[in-house]
Amino acid sequence: MGSILIIGAGISGAALANLCSEKTDKITVIDSSDHIAGNCFDYRDGNGIMIHRYGSHIFHTSDKRVWDYLNRFSGFNTYMHRVVAIIEGNEIPIPFNFNSIRMAFPKELADRIEHKLLQSYKYGTKIPIKDFMTQDDPDLIFLAEYIYENVFVHYTEKQWGSSSSSLDGAVTARVPVYLSRDDRYFQNTYQGIPLEGYTEMIRKMLDRPNIEVKLNTSFKDFDSSGYDLIFYTGPVDELMDYSLGPLPYRSVHFKMETYDREHYQSGAAVNYPNNYDFTRIHEYKYYLDDKSDRTVIAKEYSEDFVPGKNERYYPVPSEANRELYARYLKIASEKYPNMRFLGRLGDYQYYDMDKAVARAFQVFEEAMQ
Ligand code: UDP
Repeated sequence: MGSILIIGAGISGAALANLCSEKTDKITVIDSSDHIAGNCFDYRDGNGIMIHRYGSHIFHTSDKRVWDYLNRFSGFNTYMHRVVAIIEGNEIPIPFNFNSIRMAFPKELADRIEHKLLQSYKYGTKIPIKDFMTQDDPDLIFLAEYIYENVFVHYTEKQWGSSSSSLDGAVTARVPVYLSRDDRYFQNTYQGIPLEGYTEMIRKMLDRPNIEVKLNTSFKDFDSSGYDLIFYTGPVDELMDYSLGPLPYRSVHFKMETYDREHYQSGAAVNYPNNYDFTRIHEYKYYLDDKSDRTVIAKEYSEDFVPGKNERYYPVPSEANRELYARYLKIASEKYPNMRFLGRLGDYQYYDMDKAVARAFQVFEEAMQ
């Protein structure tokens, strides 16, 4: 494969570096920040609580290949994520499921809705909220509107700001109605948190004699001329000096708070679709069952990404943005013919961690051909 330069030491860059390390002698991984692991970065604070600096990361996949691969670098616990939303002051499990229906509505109405749902759909299926609203039944329309109003629309406005109206199905499909009593947020075969954290897992992926990691090093200041292949996991608009204008991203401000008590809330994740300016509160000690008299929470405030002010978190999925990305990809590939792109930023895709690793496999295999 020759010598390889990888820009970005997040989960995409680290997986790719690790895969390439079997096939080539020299791999350099550079990252402009002062740590590895990208937005998966975590650390134990003074209370012994594992903090996810860039927001909660909950690993879940049904891809056995990805799961087996990551288990080479870390054990995982069997944490299964549950989310409740505060709706009319009550904690209701989301995605909205049969338990949620029973908690939100009087018994007679709940019975009727459950019965009608099972007449139209199969038990155990997930119905994206949009499909659901087209049903010609007053009770089902009521349910759809209730969920739309109480779970979806205000949360989405807070999370995505002015871009929420042009978002496509990729986002709305993430909020299904789940015809089940399963309160878990994910139904994947494999779920869990790396026992020593994501940073340690990623450190092990990079810990090969032929991988050199350089932090605080940006691509612009780095002499890349001697490398045969370059893999870029960063933002393509920045790479091209924003020549076509900025690619939109959403960012998040995390307001961390420490409390002198064992727990702050009932579980790791409480969403606030309709109250307050933050979208949700995560309580970190739940993930690894950290023991401490104290607890640390993060209130999440969504905001637009502004270069130099905050970090990129979410590409904003819309047709116009994908077109802009495609134009950037074209001019970037012309300027750097030996460069390949991957990762949430490099591909401008709202990847979960398992998808980022699967994409690293794919890019690796393509490069090997
Ligand atoms: N969402 C919502 N209400 C909620 C939680 C999520 O409407 O209580 C929508 C919202 O549009 C959000 C998307 O679902 O952007 C995905 O949210 P999720 O928490 O699954 O993704 P994450 O932000 O953790 O990547």
